[in-house]
Amino acid sequence: MRTYIDIRNLKILACHGCHAEEKTEKQPFVFTVRLETDFSGARDRLEGTVSYSDVMKLLVGFCEGHCFNLIETLATEAAKLILKRFSSVRRVRVTVAKPEAPVPLDFETVSATAELGWETAFVALGSNLGDRKGYLDGAVSFLREREDIRVVKVSSYLETAPYGGVADRRFLNAAAKIETILSPLELLDVLQKGERAAHRERKEHWGNRTLDLDLLLYGEEIVRSERLTLPHPEMTKREFVLAPLAEIDPFAFVPTERKTAGELFARLRQK
Ligand code: ATP
Ligand code: CA
Ligand code: CA
Repeated sequence: MRTYIDIRNLKILACHGCHAEEKTEKQPFVFTVRLETDFSGARDRLEGTVSYSDVMKLLVGFCEGHCFNLIETLATEAAKLILKRFSSVRRVRVTVAKPEAPVPLDFETVSATAELGWETAFVALGSNLGDRKGYLDGAVSFLREREDIRVVKVSSYLETAPYGGVADRRFLNAAAKIETILSPLELLDVLQKGERAAHRERKEHWGNRTLDLDLLLYGEEIVRSERLTLPHPEMTKREFVLAPLAEIDPFAFVPTERKTAGELFARLRQK
């Protein structure tokens, strides 16, 4: 079952727009919001859901307190803020209309809509230089500190032999299940920031490293771009990836194989 809460036509006077006068003269912005919540309907209590009055107050403060050029930005940032602040909101759709947009034509309104939610992703962690456990612990803390990521589960740490013939020290590997409101590329940026914070030097592919953070899966998305391949292209061949992944979620689905992590791990061990 899904439960939605709708807020329709919340009018807020604020300054957003590209024209100079829009930065100083307030005009109306009209918010329509659909919240998809975790509320199961089992208990008729406010704690199990989200207070729409709190959401409205948050929107008013946010809309009045910022000055964006674009209503697209206003809608997207408002959606992110709602997801971060209200833990029982799974997805949100925010439409911002600007009925008095400075266009000298006969129109009713113009609007932008952003739809966003918490997506499940899996990250592989690896270290084979220095304080390996310290680097993995540090990476988990780094992820936990972010408001746009929730760490759901972390596997045990597994000691493994180096892979690919370049690195020469043993690795400590792990996997983490997270939920995030970041896009796959934004998440990759965050992971690379985490590597840099661990003084990772990008010398050679598959070489020794203080910290390697790979994005294994992002929902069931398949991506093949210059910066990002999803699912991670090597994951199905690697025991040091599949073992911790199957430990934390044997039903994690690898869309390119149409198999779960548990099935792929069992298949690899039979070889
Ligand atoms: P491997 O990716 O085979 O485990 P590696 O971890 O040693 O090797 P890196 O040097 O850390 O490789 O990364 C090289 C590039 O791979 C990164 O700059 C990144 O843009 C790209 N990349 C593509 N897909 C992914 C992914 N799913 N997760 C992490 N990086 C990826
Ligand atoms: Ca890697
Ligand atoms: Ca990597």
